[in-house]
Amino acid sequence: MKVVLDLDDFSVVDTCDFELEALNAYFTNFKVNMFTITQGVNRELLEEYKHYGCVYYPHGFKHNFLEMDGMRYETVRKNLLSVDKYVSEGLFGGVFKAPYWRYSDDCYRALVESGFVIAVSREQVNPPPQGVRTYEYDYELHEVWPEQFEGVLRLHGHCTPYVNGISTCYGRLIEKLPKDTEFLSIDEFLGG
Ligand SMILES: [Zn+2]
Repeated sequence: MKVVLDLDDFSVVDTCDFELEALNAYFTNFKVNMFTITQGVNRELLEEYKHYGCVYYPHGFKHNFLEMDGMRYETVRKNLLSVDKYVSEGLFGGVFKAPYWRYSDDCYRALVESGFVIAVSREQVNPPPQGVRTYEYDYELHEVWPEQFEGVLRLHGHCTPYVNGISTCYGRLIEKLPKDTEFLSIDEFLGG
């Protein structure tokens, strides 16, 4: 069984150590895609949590409410400077998710120019233009997914306390997924 697990809002405030330890203790090859508040982390933190199987993707800048919904092109470009640096170093993967999945047209333009695949929700407001590469999940962590899933099962939740939060849902993963589940990064999924 192959699974892509992504969690939103990874930052110094929410690193979900307890759940990461439990998941790593159970699964033989655990990996989690952390959508990271880029201005809420530092290099040391990102390096440190790699040993839990964390791989990182940018998830907004300060993660203010609807931060990127009305953001102008120049502002996105300016904010992307430090993010692009981490991408070029391999610390962030090549998929971007805006806070609350809300993007302005200018955001789409700037993100695509930086080479990002755009993470979209199942009910995307203001969808990206035709031809833009996207990543979309299948189920949220609190939802019921088929036991025999065809292909790669893409699951989505949060590091933060929430209905699909990992603190609420990590037991479901241990209960429902095989111990030897092959966890993939989103980049591995998109490339494979
Ligand atoms: Zn978020």
